[in-house]
Amino acid sequence: MERIIGKCGSGHKGPLLIFVAGIHGNEPQGLIALENIIKELEDGVHEKRGRMIALRGNLRAIKEDKRFISEDLNRIWSHNENLHDDVWEMKEMAELKSIINQELELGFTEAYLIDLHTTSAPTIPFVVTKEINPDKQLIHDIKVPFITGLEGHLDGTMLSWMCKKGHCGLAFEAGQHHSRTSMIKHESFIKLAMYYTGFTPSLSAEELKDLRIHLDDELMPKHNHFKLMDHYHIKQEEEFEMEPGFSNFERIYEGEILAKNQDGEIISKHDGNIFMPLYQKEGRMAFSL
Ligand SMILES: [Zn+2]
Repeated sequence: MERIIGKCGSGHKGPLLIFVAGIHGNEPQGLIALENIIKELEDGVHEKRGRMIALRGNLRAIKEDKRFISEDLNRIWSHNENLHDDVWEMKEMAELKSIINQELELGFTEAYLIDLHTTSAPTIPFVVTKEINPDKQLIHDIKVPFITGLEGHLDGTMLSWMCKKGHCGLAFEAGQHHSRTSMIKHESFIKLAMYYTGFTPSLSAEELKDLRIHLDDELMPKHNHFKLMDHYHIKQEEEFEMEPGFSNFERIYEGEILAKNQDGEIISKHDGNIFMPLYQKEGRMAFSL
């Protein structure tokens, strides 16, 4: 399996788009979407400006259909590689960093790193990015809900590394791991990102409308920017259980019962929107407001 899914250059000045999928090895839909898009770009229907490159994340974990081998590849980007060379993912990260750094040396108008993910539970599509991101315009243009303020919870992510370099870094969560809908939402997000960054500037109104319909979800909230206000940390021995029926970004109210544990009910301290990450199985966070 190769690291590079494909590359596409135009010879014209423009943005640099770096797409990564499979940084978690058990999330195949982003990989399929990127393979499809690279094939379409090779057919050369659309005018292009700048460059794009599509990369596979954790090659060994993808082969073994596991989230990771020894450590989560999307939590180690702030580590010093020399101190952890017994961790398999350090090798994968070093290769990714080297390719991305080479691309960044080639010149561009703006650079974007877009990291494609899916989740174990169903969710509406959403973006995670940093509060300090040099360019959130792309996220506003695509009009998907996005969450910031996770700094301290999601340290060492690839997107943080890119933002620290002064470029746009974001993660897109399309939906559930093995749903075909997630692949379709990935494809639509990638194509809208290529359009709004100016890489493929000449999509027709009809094409744009179709992409929006495919990305949309009837449960999408009315506004787009969510900032983490509070969170609940599940302890290792805690018998934590969410109340059934919540969906991501659903409106919740102060005093509402959100979950239960061995001591009783866990109640919302705020009015807000619920955000149930992704990592419930690992017991790190359950809900945020
Ligand atoms: Zn993931």
